[in-house]
Amino acid sequence: MERLQKVIAQAGIASRRKAEEMIAAGRVRVNGEIVSEMGYKVKRGDYIEVDGNPIEKENKVYFLMNKPKKTMCTSNDEFGRQTVVDLIDCKERIFTVGRLDYDTSGLLLLTNDGEFANEIIHPRYHIPKVYNLTINGILTGEDKKKIKEGIVLDDGIKTLPAKYKMTEIDKEKNQCSLDLTIYEGRNRQIKRMMESLGYEVRRLHRKELAFLKCSDLKQGEYRKLKPFEVQQLR
Ligand code: URA
Repeated sequence: MERLQKVIAQAGIASRRKAEEMIAAGRVRVNGEIVSEMGYKVKRGDYIEVDGNPIEKENKVYFLMNKPKKTMCTSNDEFGRQTVVDLIDCKERIFTVGRLDYDTSGLLLLTNDGEFANEIIHPRYHIPKVYNLTINGILTGEDKKKIKEGIVLDDGIKTLPAKYKMTEIDKEKNQCSLDLTIYEGRNRQIKRMMESLGYEVRRLHRKELAFLKCSDLKQGEYRKLKPFEVQQLR
């Protein structure tokens, strides 16, 4: 038995809140009868229609993309910029699992499975994410120590200890690149960590999330996750 608005939302027709509005407006029928009661529970086999159209349970889909720079992770952008959802050819209403900034490239998951998305982004799970980044300066020994111990961000929150590996030092350009592994996903976390240390991020690419990599995909390419990968992530 599940709440009617949840079933409508899971069918990909509307968000749960919009589904509630549809129910309240008398647009939903169960087994031919209009249902406008909010807590109404449906059972398997019930015939549900919205505006006279039967709903079908939406298949759950899971994609892994190598996100190109200059794409948005929102489902539509008020300035008409390209979104990652536009790049994927599928009929389901998908969204991104967490976000990468407009100018960040790399591994991004997309799905229509809200529970799965919440499990991945919930800070409690400490899923490792590896970023490769270039900053304007050469990381000092003191800064490396701070990365390993946790950095206090602009909002006063201290990040979990992170790992780093230097991948390039360019003294002429006065910049360096490193792989940085973090175990949480705060808003703009990498850039804010580097800002706290006094650096600016010149380039940011997510290479890995848990055991997943995107190095076999060109930027803008994507593939479906394999069922065992979905299972292993949960
Ligand atoms: N950290 C950032 O600052 N930006 C991203 O896009 C991802 C992590």
